Amino acid sequence: MKTIRCFLKKDKERPLEGHHPWIFSGAIDRIDDDHEAGSLVKVFSSENKFLGIGYLNPRSQIAIRMLTFQDEPVGPSLFKKKIEDAIALRREFINKETNACRLIHSEGDFLPGLIVDRYADYLVVQFLTAGIEKWKDDLVSILQESVNPRGIFERDDSEWRAWEGLEKRAGSLAGEEPPDFVEIQENGLRFIVDIHRGQKTGFFLDQRENRKLIGRLSKGKRVLNCFSYTGGFSVYAARAGALETVSVDSSEEALNTARHNFEKNGFKEASHSLIREDVFQYLRSSRQEFDLIVLDPPAFCKNKQQIQQAARGYKDINLWALKRAAAGGLLYTCSCSSYIAPDLFQKIIFGAAKDARRDVRIVAKTSHAPDHPINVYHPEGEYLKGLLCQVV
Ligand code: SAH
Repeated sequence: MKTIRCFLKKDKERPLEGHHPWIFSGAIDRIDDDHEAGSLVKVFSSENKFLGIGYLNPRSQIAIRMLTFQDEPVGPSLFKKKIEDAIALRREFINKETNACRLIHSEGDFLPGLIVDRYADYLVVQFLTAGIEKWKDDLVSILQESVNPRGIFERDDSEWRAWEGLEKRAGSLAGEEPPDFVEIQENGLRFIVDIHRGQKTGFFLDQRENRKLIGRLSKGKRVLNCFSYTGGFSVYAARAGALETVSVDSSEEALNTARHNFEKNGFKEASHSLIREDVFQYLRSSRQEFDLIVLDPPAFCKNKQQIQQAARGYKDINLWALKRAAAGGLLYTCSCSSYIAPDLFQKIIFGAAKDARRDVRIVAKTSHAPDHPINVYHPEGEYLKGLLCQVV
């Protein structure tokens, strides 16, 4: 692929010298004429110093995402090395009782725009940017060689693609098409994953370690799992011997899958209930008390303009969850919006505690599982924040 040149404005090279992988459009002085979305670009400072190579999308505010900070060929062999490094890291962290994990985590694996999730014998991929989309065929071949999955399925049906000027698409890319439901194992528990229609790529792999933590705390407790999706936290709680679990979600499909997940693991008791309701309404109308409450909502905030409104939403659900917590109970509360910074999230919980008139102390802070690594030069990659709180 042809490489074009881009020159930054004066004094705009600092972030790149610190290996930040993004260049915003405002930092660019000029680019060679014949570029298009996805073009490879060699980036230079205003003083003509080589800074690295990335790919361009003139439509996006993040105009360039960097692939390397060295003057080296960008192509299949560089991608293969990055993919094999990523796989080697997972080998260190994913235990034998788990066969589903994120293999490639975009900037966290120095491959901006590429997501690869493994679900047992299948891979589910997302090409989130025009720049990574250009290398799709090469990347699929590398994944076939390096992982040898039964099939590779594309789930590019998110809004992201539209912002990049790409069409939405879902379908098989290589090998066998996965069945409607693929069974995975996570920490010895069995879950079914709807690869074709489930949310994101089918399962929220980033919460794996936190599900384990909540499981450990659930014995003998009345557990409320809000925004339960397919029941992840609840199934862990059931295995640990929770007295009761209540899973609340607005999606009927998610709750149907949750029912199967309970059954697959042999938990058929009536003490595990699934409620299809809006969590805001449920928390307001329920009078029940719980010893352990999980709040894992979808991102309330998708851009900077929404921060204040999202903060009100987070405060509201946390306030009502705190009211439902038994004395001495636990609240595990999360935000997966990268725009809600950790200190802001903690302030929101402070405000909720004050209004609920409960004394609350943080006993643990959590993040995503190790297969979602955070590139230290790209702090924006740290999106999931969890606070485990004791409610006095
Ligand atoms: N904790 C889950 C993942 C949660 S994803 C796990 O470990 O797998 C967020 C979930 O919130 C989705 O299942 C979505 O259907 C649900 N949801 C979104 N808005 C909701 C609302 N207002 N009330 C209830 N559920 C909602």
